[in-house]
Amino acid sequence: MSISSPLSSLIFDNHFIGNLPADPVTDNTRRQVLEACYSYIEPTKVNAPRLVAYSKEVAELLDISEQDCESALFTQVFSGNTLLDGMKPYAQCYGGHQFGNWAGQLGDGRAINLGEVINQHGQHHTLQLKGSGATPYSRTADGLAVLRSSVREFLCSEAMFHLGVPTTRALSLVTTGEHVVRDMFYDGRPKEEPGAIVCRVAPSFLRFGSYEIFSARGDIDTLRQLVDFTLRTEFPHLGAPCVDTYLSWFSEVCDRTADMIVHWMRVGFVHGVMNTDNMSILGLTIDYGPYGWLEDYDPDWTPNTTDATGRRYRFGNQAQIAQWNLFQLANAIYPLIEQAEPLQKILSDYAERYTEKWQAMRASKLGLSIYSEELQQSLHKILQLTETDMTIFYRNLADVPCEQSDLSDDDLIAPLIDAYYDVDTLTAEIKAEIYAWLRQYQQCVRQEGIKDKMRRITMNKVNPKYVLRNYLAQLAIDKAEQNDFSMVNQLLELFRHPYAEQKEMEHYAVKRPDWARNRAGCSMLSCSS
Ligand code: AMP
Ligand code: MG
Repeated sequence: MSISSPLSSLIFDNHFIGNLPADPVTDNTRRQVLEACYSYIEPTKVNAPRLVAYSKEVAELLDISEQDCESALFTQVFSGNTLLDGMKPYAQCYGGHQFGNWAGQLGDGRAINLGEVINQHGQHHTLQLKGSGATPYSRTADGLAVLRSSVREFLCSEAMFHLGVPTTRALSLVTTGEHVVRDMFYDGRPKEEPGAIVCRVAPSFLRFGSYEIFSARGDIDTLRQLVDFTLRTEFPHLGAPCVDTYLSWFSEVCDRTADMIVHWMRVGFVHGVMNTDNMSILGLTIDYGPYGWLEDYDPDWTPNTTDATGRRYRFGNQAQIAQWNLFQLANAIYPLIEQAEPLQKILSDYAERYTEKWQAMRASKLGLSIYSEELQQSLHKILQLTETDMTIFYRNLADVPCEQSDLSDDDLIAPLIDAYYDVDTLTAEIKAEIYAWLRQYQQCVRQEGIKDKMRRITMNKVNPKYVLRNYLAQLAIDKAEQNDFSMVNQLLELFRHPYAEQKEMEHYAVKRPDWARNRAGCSMLSCSS
């Protein structure tokens, strides 16, 4: 039974600021913040906040009732206009490697943590407003966020959660009633866009870059305080801080990161900006920017226009980039360990463990328990012969009968036809390769003795029917920008059950329409947000 308390009686236990050094300067000037983990800063008040949507599951996690979510106070609090008793807002200091280069201090340039709530189960959750004004870490930017990127972050956080992918959550989305100027494609055509604020929720928003900044500055004392704090609050099962505990911690971070990437690969998610400041120490997907969902299966695809040349953050490269990022984290905590070998060993174990986990996942996407390299290699090939929708292909593969060995080629491929962007491109040669693969697949299924009915049930729990296709988010944004928030709320509802058939929602499970192929926001996204 969960009991909800009124919004005004949420219990805050601000352990981050209670245990770590603060920036002594309290005015809101942009600066390098030394020997401190955060700066006190209040959200900037906004003109005319309006609630667009809230997640009832996240509200429940925080013991906030739906009635409270619909109150005027809720909108005031989660637009940053009102602070509740116990809130003590602050912005965190962190650094990061961006696109492979050390970028120095970054920090919460437009995120303000309101405080840490303890719920009735004793769990901690940090509430963080994104887009609520400038902080000492804003550098040359405005600290604000636009509606389009806020809709994307809000919907995707919740969709990812229900898809079973480790992620930060989103409690609320409000518009501010103010305009924010953005040059979406950095081409000298700035435009006014509606401003918005998302309240993100996670046990902790610490990133790899949170540790890197102190190490880069040679501030080992603060580094140790932060690491020990992280261990005590987020990894208490590892024991008291000491060299061995630091190593087990690093190993666990590697493991959690590997799990997260396996899930991204399973559902076809491309983060788009895997900089070390966007890597959560808890192995959660964090910072939804120019992310995208793979539509036609293309391992080289990146949604981020800023990444278009190097394709560093392409779909098929995410596991390697995660390892590169973990290597930076290893460097950052090295001063506390002073032995390279065990850190290197853990990093190479990451690669091995990732491979094992990913192979097991690839088998389960096919409803199999045994991984077959041959079957998977040929699958990887046939998915790229012609534009093939990854989500529809895996989902519908569950409907390909495997118990009967005497099916005609046409009957065999029939359930998959919807996955092909242009059936006219299915030449006789391509079809022959697909049939051959399907027969190989049938054989593997039969060898494992799996019945079609059972296979369909297990596969449909691994392969979602609905993913937040880029064009779907864009359609919701187009409406939201006209003050029509119905589609945001409809998608929020849809993604509460992404594995369920939801027959009446089938139009959201179809492949990307042609108009969306080259439209901004649908296939090309920039970091401008
Ligand atoms: P991102 O690439 O969105 O993860 O952001 C990288 C860094 O830039 C972080 O320190 C952000 O806080 C900061 N940043 C991004 N957008 C803004 C903005 N509009 N105002 C202030 N800081 C920002
Ligand atoms: Mg970021």
